[in-house]
Amino acid sequence: MSRKYRVGILGATGTVGQRFVQLLENHPQFEITALAASDRSTGKPYVEACAWKLAGKMPDFVKNITVQPIEPPLDCDLVFSSLPSSVARETEEAFARAGYPVISNSSSYRMDEDVPLLIAEINHEHVGLIEKQKQKRGFGKGFIVTNPNCAVVSFAPPLAALHRKFGVEEVIVTTLQAISGAGYPGVPSLDITDNVVPYIAGEEPKVETEAQKILGKFTDGGIEKADFTVSAQCFRVHVIDGHTASVRVNLNQTATMEEVIEAINTFPSLDLYSSPKRFMEYCDEPSRPQPRLDRDSGNGMTITVGRLFPDNVFDYRFVSLSHNTVRGAAGSAVLNAELLISKGII
Ligand code: NAP
Repeated sequence: MSRKYRVGILGATGTVGQRFVQLLENHPQFEITALAASDRSTGKPYVEACAWKLAGKMPDFVKNITVQPIEPPLDCDLVFSSLPSSVARETEEAFARAGYPVISNSSSYRMDEDVPLLIAEINHEHVGLIEKQKQKRGFGKGFIVTNPNCAVVSFAPPLAALHRKFGVEEVIVTTLQAISGAGYPGVPSLDITDNVVPYIAGEEPKVETEAQKILGKFTDGGIEKADFTVSAQCFRVHVIDGHTASVRVNLNQTATMEEVIEAINTFPSLDLYSSPKRFMEYCDEPSRPQPRLDRDSGNGMTITVGRLFPDNVFDYRFVSLSHNTVRGAAGSAVLNAELLISKGII
C-alpha cells in the first residue's frame, strides 16, 4: 500500500463526524490529521470538545487533536464534510477553491448540475462531472462531490435495480427515520418517546428529487435525470439508527417476483475497502427488514430489502432499510473517497 492520504473532517464533533472518526480508525488509505467544528469546540482537544455517543470508546489517536475552525488551510489532502447545510455551502466552496477535494454529506450542493451525487455502486460514472465543475467554478485542484440524503439511500438502491432491468415509472415512498438522523442532541426526548412525528423539516422535497439524479445517465458532460415521479411522506420514529422506507412502485415493463428479487440480489458491489460483500440483500423472513436486526448488515453498508409483494394499486410494494449514519452518511462518503482514488481523481 502506498502512502496514506491525510484527511480533515469538518463537523468532526457531530453525529456523522464521530462516525467518520470511527470508520477511519485503522483505514488502510486514510489517516485523520485535522478536525474542525464550531466556535464552541475550536481550540479544545477533541476529547474535550466532543460528547462521544457511539458504542465503544473514543479512539485514542484523535483525543489530543486540537479542533480547528472550519476554514482553509487545514493540514490534510482532502476533507470530509458533515456540516449543517446552513454553513456547508460557503465553507465547502472555500475548501474546494483552496484546492481540497471535498466529500460532503450536506444537502447544499447535491442538486447542483455540475456536482456528482454519488452512490458509488449505482452511478460512479457521474464523477465525470468533476472536470466540468472545476472549469466552471475555477476551482483548480479542488472539487466537491456529495452523497445523498440518508432517507434516499434507504430506497434508491432497490429502485436502481428495478430501473435498470424494468424501468421505474412512479414511486410512492413513506420513510420511517431514526432519531440519529437529526444529529445530536436532535429531537427532544419528550417529542419522540412514545411517538411518531409526521414532519421532518425540508426532508420530503429531497426525498422526492434526489433519486432521479442518482439514477440519471451521464451524457454530454451532464446528468440526464431519470424520468419518474416520487411522492414522499417522511416520519421521525422512535429508533436510534436505521432508516426504513415503505415503497410502492410502478414499472415500465412487467416483471415477476423472482425477477425483481434477482435484480436486487445480483446488483454488484464494488471492490473497494469499504464495499460490503453484498450491496443489497433480499430477506425472505416475513417480518424483516427491521432497524435493530438489519442496520449493521455488511458493517452498516448493505441495504436490506424485504416484504416484496404485488400491490393492489401499484405493480409492487416492498420495504428497504439502511444504516443512516454509515451507508446514509459517513460510510458512503468514505467509499466515495476510495472510489475517487481508484479512478485517479484524488
Ligand atoms: P450534528 O450532530 O448536529 O453535528 C453538526 C457538526 O457541525 C458538529 O461538529 C458541529 O460542531 C458542527 N457545526 C454546527 N454549526 C456549525 C457552525 N456554525 N460552524 C462550524 N461548525 C458547525 O449533525 P449531523 O447529524 O452530524 O449532520 C451533519 C450534516 O450531515 C448535516 O448537513 C446533515 O444533514 C448531514 N447528514 C446527517 C445524517 C445523519 O444521519 N445524522 C445523514 C446524512 C447526512 P460543534 O460540536 O462544535 O457545535
